[in-house]
Amino acid sequence: MKHILDGNAPDQQHMQCDLCIVGAGPAGITLATEMAKSGLHIVVVESGQNAVNNNIQALNNVQSTGKTFRPNFINRLRMLGGTSNLWPGRCMPLEPIDFSSRAWIAHSGWPISYEEYAQYLPKAAKILGIADSQADAKNLAMPSVAIPIDLNTFSIKLAVWAKSPLRFAKKLNKRWASLSNISLVTGFTAFDYSFNKSATTLEQIHCRSLSNKTLSIRASRFVLCSGGIENARILLIAKQQNPNATFATDNIGRFFMDHPRAVKGEIRLNKGVNWGEFLGHPVAGGIKQMGIGLSAQVQQQQQLLNSYICLEPRANVVVAKSYDTAVQTVKQLMSKGHTSNRLDLTSFGLITGMVYQLTPKEILPNWLYCIYCWLRSFLKEHKRDLVIINQCEQLPNPDSRITLSNKTDTFGNPIASIHWQMSNAEIKSIQAIHQALGAWLKEQGLGELKTSVTDIQEPDFDEASHHIGTTRMSNEPQSGVVDSNLKLHGISNLYVCGSSVFTTSGSGNPTWSIVAFALRLANHLGKS
Ligand SMILES: Cc1cc2nc3c(=O)[nH]c(=O)nc-3n(C[C@H](O)[C@H](O)[C@H](O)COP(=O)(O)OP(=O)(O)OC[C@H]3O[C@@H](n4cnc5c(N)ncnc54)[C@H](O)[C@@H]3O)c2cc1C
Repeated sequence: MKHILDGNAPDQQHMQCDLCIVGAGPAGITLATEMAKSGLHIVVVESGQNAVNNNIQALNNVQSTGKTFRPNFINRLRMLGGTSNLWPGRCMPLEPIDFSSRAWIAHSGWPISYEEYAQYLPKAAKILGIADSQADAKNLAMPSVAIPIDLNTFSIKLAVWAKSPLRFAKKLNKRWASLSNISLVTGFTAFDYSFNKSATTLEQIHCRSLSNKTLSIRASRFVLCSGGIENARILLIAKQQNPNATFATDNIGRFFMDHPRAVKGEIRLNKGVNWGEFLGHPVAGGIKQMGIGLSAQVQQQQQLLNSYICLEPRANVVVAKSYDTAVQTVKQLMSKGHTSNRLDLTSFGLITGMVYQLTPKEILPNWLYCIYCWLRSFLKEHKRDLVIINQCEQLPNPDSRITLSNKTDTFGNPIASIHWQMSNAEIKSIQAIHQALGAWLKEQGLGELKTSVTDIQEPDFDEASHHIGTTRMSNEPQSGVVDSNLKLHGISNLYVCGSSVFTTSGSGNPTWSIVAFALRLANHLGKS
C-alpha cells in the first residue's frame, strides 16, 4: 500500500488508476479491501487523517432547515475510518418486508430482492466480528425468550454487537499493508468533478488539501463512499459544475431518512417477571438484545411502517448521576472513541434520555459487561421498571431532502442544506406498537404500560446519525438515483455506496447492510 499524506505530498499531483474510491469509512474500506483481489490499481482518497482535525471536520458543516438535529452532537466524522471511529457497533439487518413493495407506503419496494441482499450478510458479519451468519443470529434470538411472544401480532428484532466495535481504520492498517495495488491518499478532499464532453462519463476528480495542495485523479471507474449526506452533496455539486450532465438530477438528495428515535413510555412488570433478554446480554462472540415490532401481517392490516421498540432499565436520579460520572471515567480510561467528544451531556435534561445514550453494553468493555450481567442474574428482584426506546422506519418522502446551501465551505463549495421531515405515519406506527404491547402485557398478566400512547409526539424524536435514501436505488431514473448495481443513472462509470442508496430505511442500524452492499458492489465491479 502506498500512502500519500497531505503534509509530504508535492503540489499539483496527478494520479491515474482503474478504480477511485472517495471516502474511507466502512463502505470505502470494505469495497477497496474486497476489490484488491482483482489486481486493479485502486486509489482511495479520504478527506480526513489519522486523528480528528477540526478544520477538516468543519467540511461537514450543514445548514438545517427542517426538523433539527441534536445540538452538540457529532453525527459523522471526517477521519480515516470515517464515522466507524465513533460508532458503538450495534448491528441489525434489513428484513424481507423492507424490500417489498407495500401498497400502503408510497415509494416503497426495492429493485432487488431481500434474498439478493441477504447472501452478503454472513460475510459482512464476519468482517464486523458479529454472529457468523444471520441464521446464527436468529437461532440466538428465539430459544432464550423467557416470555413467549405472540408472533402473530409481534415480531422479534435482534440487535447484535461484536465484543468491541470495529474501528475500520485499525483493521485497514493491518490488512492493506501487504496490498501493493491500493494507494491511500489522506487529507485530500474531492471538490471538483470533470466529465467528458457529452457529460456521460466522469473523467477525473480534483482534490485539495487544507494546505492548498492539489491532486487530480483520473480513473476508469469512480465510487462515492462518502456517507449518506456527502454522497448527495457531491453529486449536487458535480451537477452544479456540469449543468449539461444528464444524471438523475431531480432525485439527488430527496427521500432523506433517518431512524427517528425517542425515549418515551414506561413498562412496569409484575413481580417475578424476568425480561432480561430484552435488556441485552452476552453471547458467544459479543452481545445481543431483542426488540419488539409488529408482525408483517399486522403492519399490512393497519398500514404501518416497520418500526420497533427496545427496553432499558429505568434508573433513578441518584443512580443516573453516579452513572454519568462513572461513564466519564470509563470513557477516559478506555479511550472509547464512540463516547469521546460526541455528546454534550448537559443537553440531556431527561435521565431516560441519558440512560439510552449510555447503556452499559455500549460503554463497558465486553469483559466488564459480562461481569455486570452475571451480577444482575443474582438479583432477587428482577428489574421491573423499564423505559421504552422507540425506533422508527421513516416514510420515504421526496420533500425530506438535501439541497445546496448558499453558504460555502473552505474550498468554496456549497455546504449541504438539510430539510429533514417526519410525518404522522412514523408516530402512528409507534403508537400501534405501544397499544398492542400494553394490551398484551395486561392480557398475559405480565405487567402494564404506564404511559398513554397519545403522549408520543414528534418533538420527542431525535435523529440517530443514520443518513439514508439520498441517492436511492431504483430501476428507473424517474424514481431514483442509482440502478440496482449502484451505478448512477445516466453516467457510465460512477457508482455510489453507503446508506444513501437504500430505497427505504427499515428501522435497524445501517452499517451491517452498508458493508453487505459494499461486498455486493465489489462482486459486480470485479465481474464487469
Ligand atoms: C455516534 C454515532 C453512533 C452510531 N452508531 C451506530 C450503530 O450502533 N450501528 C450502526 O449500524 N451505525 C451506527 N452509526 C452510523 C455509522 O457510523 C454509519 O452508518 C457508517 O459509519 C457509515 O459508513 P460510510 O462508510 O457510508 O460513511 P462514513 O463512515 O461517514 O465515512 C465516509 C468517509 O468519507 C469521507 N469523505 C466525505 N466527503 C469526502 C470528500 N469530498 N472527499 C474525500 N473524502 C470524503 C469522510 O471523511 C469519511 O471518512 C453511528 C453513527 C454515529 C455518529
